[in-house]
Amino acid sequence: MDPTIAEPAPRHLLYALPRHGILGVQGRRSDRLLARRLRTAVQAAWRRFSPGERRGILDYWDDDFYVDWRNPDGSPYDLEGPLPYISLVDPVDLRHNITGVHCWGVCSCEGHVLRFARDVAEMPDRIFEQIVAHELLHVAQYAEGVGARTPEELADAECDVHLRMLDHDYDIEEYAEWCEDNWSLAARFDRSAP
Ligand SMILES: [Zn+2]
Repeated sequence: MDPTIAEPAPRHLLYALPRHGILGVQGRRSDRLLARRLRTAVQAAWRRFSPGERRGILDYWDDDFYVDWRNPDGSPYDLEGPLPYISLVDPVDLRHNITGVHCWGVCSCEGHVLRFARDVAEMPDRIFEQIVAHELLHVAQYAEGVGARTPEELADAECDVHLRMLDHDYDIEEYAEWCEDNWSLAARFDRSAP
């Protein structure tokens, strides 16, 4: 093995979704519990998706294609193993790939990579689930060919996700209130919206 290649972070393999039953969550060993909570949130959000949305996402993830995805700083993503590629990262490392602002969760590589800040461990499950659902809805957009690739497109995509969250019966006011009541956690981010 090439000694210059860093040892990969431990991967928590979780059974989460049909076909993509094994959800590889990359993070620290101590992230095990958080990875399990992530699985619960993914499954809970998934149950609210329509059959068409689910099929669209699974078919999209099944597409066997490779693109030289890059981080905002130009470095290549270290993508290996099953897609979707999900990782738990430090909040300071989690910036939106289009806007550069800090977020709780980021959907990048056109819906193939989902990253979540470890701070979500401090959230109640229901709030965490909203963040996960939000990012999965961005995946649905890419699967439908309407995913954002520019800041202008992102504004429309965020409005669309907002409407879809309501369609999926999420209490987005509860989310907003939680952010308000937990401003010290929310303030670590440039914005509180996922
Ligand atoms: Zn969003």
